[in-house]
Amino acid sequence: MGDGIHIPLESLQNGGNSPRAVSKPAQSETPGASQPRSAQESVAQHGTFFLETFGCQMNEHDSEKVAGVLLARGYRQVETPEAASLVLYNTCSIREKAAQKLFSRLGVYRDTLGKADGQPQKIGVLGCVAQQEGQAIFSRAPWVSLVCGSASYRNLPQLLARLESGEERVTGLDNDTDETFETELTRRDNPWRAYITIIEGCDKSCAYCVVPFTRGPERSRDSALVLAELRGLAERGYSEVQFLGQTVNSYADPSPRKMRFSELLVEAGQVPGIRRVRFTTSHPRDFTPDIVEAIDAHAAICNHVHLPVQSGSSRVLRAMQRTYSREEYLEKIALIRGAKRKVAVTTDIIVGFPGETEEDFQQTLGLLEEVKYEGVFSFKYSPRPNTPAASMPDAIPEEEKSRRLATLLEKQRAIQTVALGKLQNDMVEVHVDGKAKKENHWYGHSSCNRVVNFSSSDGGILGRYVPVRISGCTPNSLLGEHAAAL
Ligand code: SAM
Ligand code: SF4
Repeated sequence: MGDGIHIPLESLQNGGNSPRAVSKPAQSETPGASQPRSAQESVAQHGTFFLETFGCQMNEHDSEKVAGVLLARGYRQVETPEAASLVLYNTCSIREKAAQKLFSRLGVYRDTLGKADGQPQKIGVLGCVAQQEGQAIFSRAPWVSLVCGSASYRNLPQLLARLESGEERVTGLDNDTDETFETELTRRDNPWRAYITIIEGCDKSCAYCVVPFTRGPERSRDSALVLAELRGLAERGYSEVQFLGQTVNSYADPSPRKMRFSELLVEAGQVPGIRRVRFTTSHPRDFTPDIVEAIDAHAAICNHVHLPVQSGSSRVLRAMQRTYSREEYLEKIALIRGAKRKVAVTTDIIVGFPGETEEDFQQTLGLLEEVKYEGVFSFKYSPRPNTPAASMPDAIPEEEKSRRLATLLEKQRAIQTVALGKLQNDMVEVHVDGKAKKENHWYGHSSCNRVVNFSSSDGGILGRYVPVRISGCTPNSLLGEHAAAL
């Protein structure tokens, strides 16, 4: 998360930057096999790979698909870079520190590229830093052999073939495409919750953001493909799906069905076996009443909306090119708060955008008070290359950004403490994600994505949905006990 701070009191995970829930056991699309039989039989072993991922859930899921491509080519995944003949870093460049992290990882290989599996090691950089830095990565780290941005993942099989045939510098940097990344095999990290990217890229142009440069233009996937993937997942036992997109609700079905985003949510919720459908990240401008109507009418659509506001000041929002004012944003919040079901709302906020005055910042604090978010992810503004904001005047000094961030955190913490206290004795349905260290204790998450730690003497609840009565909270989670019924 870079220097971003996550304060849903850790009790509510957002869509974009929340910590991973469960990373093991890895699930291949082919039940019971770490790689498909046909791949094992027909493709020569190319060696082993190690893949480390930085950044958001979209990156996490891209990595699941990249791993699928590699497994299908006959590679085997290993747990450490030392054991891998192909070491891959899937990078994020949203904030500066993430790129620094990559170059410190790459520095390890400066003097020696080892051998693994009897083959010389090769290093690849994937994702946003790859797209942003391009060929310059070869100058800064000449021992890197593959540089590939996310819009070129669809060409990975060809790029890998060139690497395998001995080419020393292979690039996939074309990001002006209308194609999406389709894979036959995805190696999934979580046995119950599956990600499905429904829209890639971004057509907005927020003044601070690198995503439109690094992920290319907006491309939506055919609704029939999305639903077929979901049915396949449900047949393999997945019960929760999370639709992903930088602006997930800008989804525009390219097929003749022209399904609206809300219709896709409804159809997804009707797939047999699917209990929960969540989606992230929604852009306020494209957030329409039919989405709230769908949440109200269909219990399977999760009652959580992550709706990044970025600032509470219309003046700053204009400078950020967010395409809505504070008042227009509050109208969207009113829509959500007007739902019959109680819907949790989380947000992202940037403090210290160039020219942000104390008065602007106070308006952001006022917005927190007004909306009473269930969770806030806050970030100090970080200037990014090629973005309009990077050359704006009146940069805010680092110490002042830190002060504003700390003030905002404190404010939100107080708001959440009051809100969490009110949940005492509520009943929630919890998906059981894992067993805690303490005997008879488990953890999971609710439909609105709160982390719940609870006690249960039933030893067979892993992966099930159970009713939990809330008995208290910590700064990091809700506490409760397994109950007989909701
Ligand atoms: N597409 C999403 C949206 O429109 O809100 C967000 C995508 S971005 C991966 C996640 C969050 O990172 C943003 O909501 C913003 O708060 C933060 N972010 C993006 N660029 C940033 C920058 N240059 N400095 C600080 N935070 C930034
Ligand atoms: Fe970046 Fe704005 Fe696109 Fe979100 S909507 S990815 S913040 S440009």
